[in-house]
Amino acid sequence: MFKKSRALPPEVVILRILNERMELTEKDKQNLWNLEKGYEGEVKFDKLIQHLETLILNDLLLEVSDSLFQIDTLIIFQGKIYLIDIKNYEGEYFYEGGVFKTNTKIEKKDPMLQLKRCQPLLRQLLQKYGYAIPIEAYLVFINPEFTLFQPSHNPQIILPTQVNSFIKKLSKLPPSLTGRDLKLADLLISLHITENPYTRLPKYDYDSLQKGLSCAKCHSFSLSVSRTILTCECGFKERVEPAVMRSVNELHILFPEIKITTNLVNEWCGAVASKKTIRRILKENFKAIGNTKDTYYD
Ligand SMILES: [Zn+2]
Repeated sequence: MFKKSRALPPEVVILRILNERMELTEKDKQNLWNLEKGYEGEVKFDKLIQHLETLILNDLLLEVSDSLFQIDTLIIFQGKIYLIDIKNYEGEYFYEGGVFKTNTKIEKKDPMLQLKRCQPLLRQLLQKYGYAIPIEAYLVFINPEFTLFQPSHNPQIILPTQVNSFIKKLSKLPPSLTGRDLKLADLLISLHITENPYTRLPKYDYDSLQKGLSCAKCHSFSLSVSRTILTCECGFKERVEPAVMRSVNELHILFPEIKITTNLVNEWCGAVASKKTIRRILKENFKAIGNTKDTYYD
């Protein structure tokens, strides 16, 4: 049972829009790719554990003693916590004495570090609220294309071929949740911090972003419009209205403070549709505020 489900990280949502409308640096592109890949692995793991009769809390961001720490998956079960970090790495890696390397000998960040840091911080946070609960931490490599060479097996590391038996072991535990388990889950959810994603993003401004409606299928801006139907160069057809609404949504995500007016949306959509059409779409989908040429929509 998911007490707290996982959503696409806001950073990914924003970077995806920016990636369409501006030239991202290689670093930002890499960051987007890594985030997408990580998310994909987490969702895959969610599907495997969704049947467990335990309390599952995804994507927690917590703080104790001025230290922020993030948890991919936390499972509460009969007075025990399973702290799980998921990696979607692909390829061959070597891991020895805390040094993590690709098969081309490029050294990467030790994947155990996050857990090693989280576990004591979580313990400290729980103690603060009067809980002394055992915490078991696991690092799960979810991608079947991943191979790890290590001199001795670390029981905290779950390799792709071990994931199913790991989950089977969890599902064999007798399913009885206590009121205390539920109370603990609610406490952790209430302590979750919603992060402001805008602080970690590349700088962008309205003027330099590409304007226009994009294809829902291939994201191209090369669309032609005939009456109320958009046709993309890839052949995909869509009604104008959902495309405009998608664009307005993007505008709102990128600039949460901006006032949505007919003129602005018309410009943002690359003047593909008529202003009359834009005004009608906005009127039908939002609440109009003001009744002059300065009308904006909320
Ligand atoms: Zn297309």
